[in-house]
Amino acid sequence: MDSTPALDPDLLDKVTNLAKRRGFIFPSAEIYGGFRSTYDYGPLGVNMLRNVKQAWWRSMVQMRSDIVGIDAAILGPPAVWAASGHLETFTDPLVDCLKCKERWREDKIEGVCPNCGSDQFTEPRAFNLMFKTQAGPVEGEGATAYLRPETAQGMFTNFSNVLATTRKKPPFGIAQIGKSFRNEITPQNFVFRTREFEQMELEYFVPPAEAETWYRYWIKARYDWYLDLGIPGELLRLHEHAPADLSHYSRGTTDVEFAYPWGWDELEGVANRGDYDLTQHSNASGTRLEYYDQAANERYTPYVIEPAAGATRAMMAFLLAAYHEDVVEGETRTVLRLDWRLAPFQVAVLPLSKKSELEGVSEEVLSILRPHFMCDHDVTQSIGRRYRRQDEVGTPFCVTVDFDTLEDRAVTVRDRDTTAQVRVKIEDLLATLRERTSQG
Ligand code: ATP
Repeated sequence: MDSTPALDPDLLDKVTNLAKRRGFIFPSAEIYGGFRSTYDYGPLGVNMLRNVKQAWWRSMVQMRSDIVGIDAAILGPPAVWAASGHLETFTDPLVDCLKCKERWREDKIEGVCPNCGSDQFTEPRAFNLMFKTQAGPVEGEGATAYLRPETAQGMFTNFSNVLATTRKKPPFGIAQIGKSFRNEITPQNFVFRTREFEQMELEYFVPPAEAETWYRYWIKARYDWYLDLGIPGELLRLHEHAPADLSHYSRGTTDVEFAYPWGWDELEGVANRGDYDLTQHSNASGTRLEYYDQAANERYTPYVIEPAAGATRAMMAFLLAAYHEDVVEGETRTVLRLDWRLAPFQVAVLPLSKKSELEGVSEEVLSILRPHFMCDHDVTQSIGRRYRRQDEVGTPFCVTVDFDTLEDRAVTVRDRDTTAQVRVKIEDLLATLRERTSQG
């Protein structure tokens, strides 16, 4: 068993505060006192969250011939959730503390009430996590709808549509990014567990005989994705579930875990779901969700390998892993060592003074860089303060326009991590930054 790396016990507070202070993540409805467990992504957070999703989409869809995307509805009829098993089994064990009356998820509290310390609880009862609502102007059974608690079912219900329109054949996958909703009993740890969150899921359909191979393939591919985007290996590990702990549909599940400030916990789950989902929906809908292999003249139900990640949870892990405090020129600074692909801004353009000649050149530099990079433009405070502000939100490059620029048509490019500065001609700036941000 690998040990948990020693992390700063205040890290969660530091990142939560930074996220609020700098416009990454705000508590939702704050002017009304907040609404528990909901968050809004601010001007920097929305950039970063989009970057996380874009990095996933790039590796899953853009760079591959075997995976296509969809964007399915969030509202769904009960029939889908009956067939998928969610109506019956998508539950967590709910207990009430007999002393303080707080409600908890039994499997997360180890027998002691986190609020009052009591060990006296009611018997656990199954609490369904789906949000139920009404669709249309009439109430009643016929109008019941559910907010999806995962994006996966949209891929299964569109299996035939995608096969028919794309002419893919197993092994092939359908990817989706979108919001999911779970009425979590105890949402906690900032955006780690919230009632509204965003998922990035792949359903990868394979011939049954190849399922184990693809299961192993996706575990490695997903682990490597986090590594490639800058999470150090010592903060990641794989946790394979024991057969007795598997969900009813699963033939194998492995979690990619991250060393959160409270210990190892799930970042993403990779499951071999067998033919459970397609069979359930075939039986319930009367539409055969199978693949006809013309060459072998054989009809079969593919197995599904599902890597299921959280976009909001991944963003939080990237922030935690990137947070550093170091000393530069005798001064402590906070720096987010985010991969440039995830940073809210890749470049900040900083004119040394507000003088209009410098502003003019800054606008010119921005017009060169903006089509290629998300840029910030900051003219306030001293240049040292502005560097610190950019370090703190993870901007990899600061481009400073000074009075020499007016003479030599060159700017200073400062590197966030090394703080090294180099002088670059404006005409070479785009090529220089592109070279330092190339991706394979
Ligand atoms: P848990 O057992 O912790 O409640 P789970 O194993 O049911 O979660 P999955 O259904 O496997 O979670 O969901 C896939 C991924 O979606 C998770 O690894 C996580 O990244 C994300 N996710 C799930 N629930 C939440 C939530 N309430 N808030 C934020 N992200 C979530």
